[in-house]
Amino acid sequence: MKFDMPSDNRRVFMLHTLVGASALATAHQAHAGTETEAVKETDAYPKSMGFRLNTADVDQTKYPRHTLEQHCSQCQLFKGNAGEQTGNCSFFKRVVPVNGWCRNFKQVKAAT
Ligand code: SF4
Repeated sequence: MKFDMPSDNRRVFMLHTLVGASALATAHQAHAGTETEAVKETDAYPKSMGFRLNTADVDQTKYPRHTLEQHCSQCQLFKGNAGEQTGNCSFFKRVVPVNGWCRNFKQVKAAT
């Protein structure tokens, strides 16, 4: 089956296709970029979760169940490589330091 398109329509079609492809590429880059961005203590959502870059700075009065043994590298939602100082947090979908903490901390289960 042959699909003939008048030349003006073809140009408009091609232009729309290019614009659409470009928008998709930009959206993909924006999404990918969130996983390389670091969580900031001052951002509203992390702040509401009590996020600190260093577990030693957690407000113990506000979070009485927090202990110094709780930090991102011991959290189930953390993915990082041995020896690195940062990793990805699947909760914030951003980079966190191994010594960070937030009130969504979930202790990694001990191997049995
Ligand atoms: S969810 Fe876990 S890894 Fe993410 S910031 Fe909180 S303590 Fe760290």
